[in-house]
Amino acid sequence: MGAVLDDHRLTIARVEPLTRTRAVRGPFDYRLGPALAGVEVGSLLRIPFGQRTTLGVVIELAGRSELAPERLAEPEAVLPSGLPPDLVELGRWMAAEYCSTTARALGMLLAPGAGAGMAPRQTLAAELTPAGRRAVAGDWAPDDGARPLTERQRARLEALQLAGASAAAELGTPALRRLEARGLVKLTLRERPRRPQHPPAVGAPLATPPALTADQQHALTPILAAVSARARDPGRFLLHGVTGSGKTEVYLRAVEATLAAGRGAIVLVPEIALTPQAVARFVARFGDVVAVLHSGLGRGERHEEWLRLRDGKARVCIGPRSAVFAPLADIGLIVLDEEHDGSYKHEGDPRYDARTVALRRARAHGAVLLAGSATPRPESVVALRRLRLAARVDGRSLPPVEVLDMTGSHHPLHPRTRMALADLRRGGGKAIILLNRRGWSNFLSCRSCGHVWLCPDCDVALVLHRASSLVACHHCGHRRPVPDRCPACRSVAVARHGAGTERLAHELSEALGDASFPVFRLDADATAGGDTLTRTLTRFEAAPAGVLVGTQMVAKGHDFPDVTLGVVLDADQTLRFPDFRAEERTFALITQLAGRAGRGDAGGTVLVQTLAPGARSIAYAARHDSDGFLADELSRRRALLYPPFASLVRIVCGSAQAADALAVGAELGRALASAPATVLGPAPLFRLRGRSRSQLVIKTTKRRAAIEAVGAAVDGVAAGAARRGVSISVDVDPQ
Ligand code: ADP
Ligand code: ZN
Ligand code: ZN
Repeated sequence: MGAVLDDHRLTIARVEPLTRTRAVRGPFDYRLGPALAGVEVGSLLRIPFGQRTTLGVVIELAGRSELAPERLAEPEAVLPSGLPPDLVELGRWMAAEYCSTTARALGMLLAPGAGAGMAPRQTLAAELTPAGRRAVAGDWAPDDGARPLTERQRARLEALQLAGASAAAELGTPALRRLEARGLVKLTLRERPRRPQHPPAVGAPLATPPALTADQQHALTPILAAVSARARDPGRFLLHGVTGSGKTEVYLRAVEATLAAGRGAIVLVPEIALTPQAVARFVARFGDVVAVLHSGLGRGERHEEWLRLRDGKARVCIGPRSAVFAPLADIGLIVLDEEHDGSYKHEGDPRYDARTVALRRARAHGAVLLAGSATPRPESVVALRRLRLAARVDGRSLPPVEVLDMTGSHHPLHPRTRMALADLRRGGGKAIILLNRRGWSNFLSCRSCGHVWLCPDCDVALVLHRASSLVACHHCGHRRPVPDRCPACRSVAVARHGAGTERLAHELSEALGDASFPVFRLDADATAGGDTLTRTLTRFEAAPAGVLVGTQMVAKGHDFPDVTLGVVLDADQTLRFPDFRAEERTFALITQLAGRAGRGDAGGTVLVQTLAPGARSIAYAARHDSDGFLADELSRRRALLYPPFASLVRIVCGSAQAADALAVGAELGRALASAPATVLGPAPLFRLRGRSRSQLVIKTTKRRAAIEAVGAAVDGVAAGAARRGVSISVDVDPQ
């Protein structure tokens, strides 16, 4: 019991081993020998763990352990990219908030590549010592008893003399180490900076700030006051500004003030590849103090940016959701651009929401939170102090929106849309067309027997991708060649139903496209990587006229002044999902797409094609009435007890056997019987990746207690479920 090692020195590290297994929960105690005196909370260690070696993060230091000293192992090594202590705290909070484990949450926060043991990129530089130079000249003899130089060693030394330090990599580290041991070579580690190339700018960044509009000035006043206040909870704002109202300029000024106050800022953007303009503006305004973290960068580059932030060399971090974990020492401001965007939710364990994490981090640092959107979430309207930008910069009006009823229509484009496109081609303007569906056609069926081609592993239809000659499952990625006959009746008559972006772009190109009126496509298929997305946007911007067709990607934040026509096809598609956020999503998509049109002197028009012209969200979007929509949506949610008036937690059980998935779901339901929540289900969900699934939805107004109850229930059934091959995933605040 309680063997005391040393009461006055912290010689015990409580370490969370970074394992994915839910059943293994740390922390475990390790003994710190004198060689490990520098270990602190957040240090990343390589530790012996059971029969193997793993990585672990120190979450606490202690003077004593419950275990006898001889039973404690010592860490094998301290790795260079440890976490700042506040991120350790954040990881522990995330584990609890999202019903995950501390290990998984910490794994999320580590420097990119830290788990792979990535050190700052150092290169070995080698130079000859005086003895080495003598050896090259033939004027050197080994000490008594040592072997003389081999031919290859002599050749290496000669190469070094010729090529200098840079040749080290080609000469082989082990060989150089042996020469070092003989005193012939001096090796030094040099840091080679690995700075990313910032994405090319679309649109000219404003290096010199423009004079603020009165609206911007007005919105900034309380923000700037909060930034300089250094209060414990300086303020949380929602910049509700119509599209094109200059929200980015407000963020820039807020960051400027934060830097002037000697503090750092995090700027979260939905997807860097789709918003290179925003990034370019920050880099143009603040230069080297900006670090960009995004997945388009190599791991080494991201690692380097991470270290620049941790070491205070960069004080502004701009990036997608994971940038909320940027290791800044003193955060004064967190900006959430396009706060309504679904990409802020992470879809792997822990299923965190960067917006919620941002709030938590802002609170911990005493930082200002500044969220912005033209279509804010009801959650944010309730939780944050709203500031308005009611008009577009330069007072341009928002484009008129026409709703086009498509019931009974067989052509994918309404006559009004076709006319508008033809006019545009004649007059030489630009259009953006949104169709939120990739591929050529939605599904294939046999004309003789009605057979529908389904994914073998999911309960969904396969989508035809003509250019790549295959049919693909959009849920699991399963793909196979386009079928030429029906497997059931051998008929060769295969019908293609519906149209996706591939077909639409093709048909528009046939009908309208030529060198002076090109058709571009922007979706996950047309683009093989971040670079290509940016290139498509750059080409569209550079073209004097043309059409950009794409999925929701085309609606995101782009600022092209010469787009005069915006078109939404199948606008009610998002309404057909059985989800309480369907209306919110539809409203946002139409409003955001409308926001891309009419940003220049030529004005603009927006056409919305739909089978549900009377839908609430479509009608509000057509009137640009976000206040009306929000008021309506909030009263509906209050009545039905949906967020922000309650919290939802979703539990999904997956298994090869449908009965097992349902049985574990039912077990969880029983375990949650006394939880302070309404439990709905278990209900079967469609099959995914060969797994049958069941779902429970927990609705609660006692968030903390309900999450704890869910965690306990999952822990209670986890072992039995695992034995039956049933996986359980918990999603707090599902999207
Ligand atoms: P939002 O994010 O609100 O849709 P943006 O930040 O993209 O709007 O701004 C729209 C355009 O207005 C951009 O081209 C931006 O450079 C420009 N802009 C912003 N503020 C001003 C200003 N005060 N004066 C002139 N132009 C501005
Ligand atoms: Zn058939
Ligand atoms: Zn599938």
